[in-house]
Amino acid sequence: MYNKETITKLNELDRKHYLHPTSSLKQHQESGPKRIFTEGKGIYLTDVNGNQYIDALASLWNVNIGHGRKELGEAASQQMGKLAYSSSFNNLSHETVIQLSEKLASMTPGDLNVFFYTSGGSESNDTAFKLVRHYWKMKGQPEKKKIIGLERAYHGITMGATSATGIPQFHNMTTSISPDFLHAAAHKTNCELGDKSDPDYFRSIRGIIEKESPETIAAIIVEPIQGAGGVIISPDGYLEAVRKLCDQYGILMIADEVICGFGRTGKMFGVDNWNVVPDIMCMAKGITSGYIPLGAVAMTERLRDNLAAVSNDVLFHGFTYSGHPTACAVALKNIEILERENLADNSRQMGPELLKGLKFLEDKHTIVTKSRVKGLLGAFELFEDREQGIPFNPEKMAAPKLVEECLSRGLIVRAVTFGGTNIIALSPPLIITKEEIEKITLILSEAIQAVKNNLK
Ligand code: PLP
Repeated sequence: MYNKETITKLNELDRKHYLHPTSSLKQHQESGPKRIFTEGKGIYLTDVNGNQYIDALASLWNVNIGHGRKELGEAASQQMGKLAYSSSFNNLSHETVIQLSEKLASMTPGDLNVFFYTSGGSESNDTAFKLVRHYWKMKGQPEKKKIIGLERAYHGITMGATSATGIPQFHNMTTSISPDFLHAAAHKTNCELGDKSDPDYFRSIRGIIEKESPETIAAIIVEPIQGAGGVIISPDGYLEAVRKLCDQYGILMIADEVICGFGRTGKMFGVDNWNVVPDIMCMAKGITSGYIPLGAVAMTERLRDNLAAVSNDVLFHGFTYSGHPTACAVALKNIEILERENLADNSRQMGPELLKGLKFLEDKHTIVTKSRVKGLLGAFELFEDREQGIPFNPEKMAAPKLVEECLSRGLIVRAVTFGGTNIIALSPPLIITKEEIEKITLILSEAIQAVKNNLK
């Protein structure tokens, strides 16, 4: 616990000098930072006042192995002592990136055995977009450059990733999105299988491909489970239908595994739940459990071989930190822990416990509905009248109020309010126990009661 003077100073300096990511500027300037954290251990974070919080979002869906793992610091320290950094440009290499690539190849499905490295999810997605366009161009089809993403998808905040994102609020922040990004209605499995009688047919991926012509479409990008859009789980058969569609029309399939990867959904990767193998898989977050920035783009050996066959020139794409040795060392240690502690299995086993907790909330509170869980990715929604399907007026701020009530009770969860929704997302560290899930449920229940009283 810090003394009062230090806390006041930190608050002042934060307000004066720190522009927070994805935060309300106005709120920050009026009230300063909401909490200042100092320590993390397991599923808990501690703030400057000595208060403890259950981090039920694994911070940003990323701290999969939990906080405070000294082994990762030791791996980083060892690597820094030996070779902190060296470049991979111009076909230079180092041992740790080779080891990580071999390890990832043993984990990813199908022949997704070739890896490019970035510093995070947005960079991974932008890399994928550039690679697929480059691929078609080198194959003599430069007009094949459009990317189809899904409505409510979130792919990050670099220009390509923002453009592929299907949440208008992220587009509105900038004056224009990049050309050649299209958005399809999500999860219209029947349309993707060819059901033209559906009025949404021309908003589906298949409808858009037919309208635009497959000769203009480079790739389709999907999250196996939409995370930031509100934990929307692909219905069974959907990813399979998208894979078939891509094969039918000669389009590349990109899976955005930035949240789903590394055990989050009860399998090592989200697509493993449906046995689908994309052509490209984008990863970040859980690859290091957030201990150090790292992202990766997996591509099939087939794709790399095709590219190599038609490319005579340098691949003009690379970040200074592509294949950063220290980040790779941390990733290797993180993966060792994930495997040693069977955390994907724990995620699969704890999923039903989390769902049980959310169902308990539904039984207890009439404003709670639509609980869903896959592995340790879960959500529920708040409705004014769930029987009649009447949502809360957005001005009532039901979900953001619940987040605040939780925070004041030592629980961190996330509100998703895009499109007038009031979704509460949960994504705890994969080390969580049944007892800890029960604790989360009880805090949520109290907080929901407080919101109900407040909204009366
Ligand atoms: N893709 C998905 C599915 C994400 O959830 C995120 C971040 O939340 C990103 C991409 C962007 O990753 P980053 O914030 O590391 O750039």
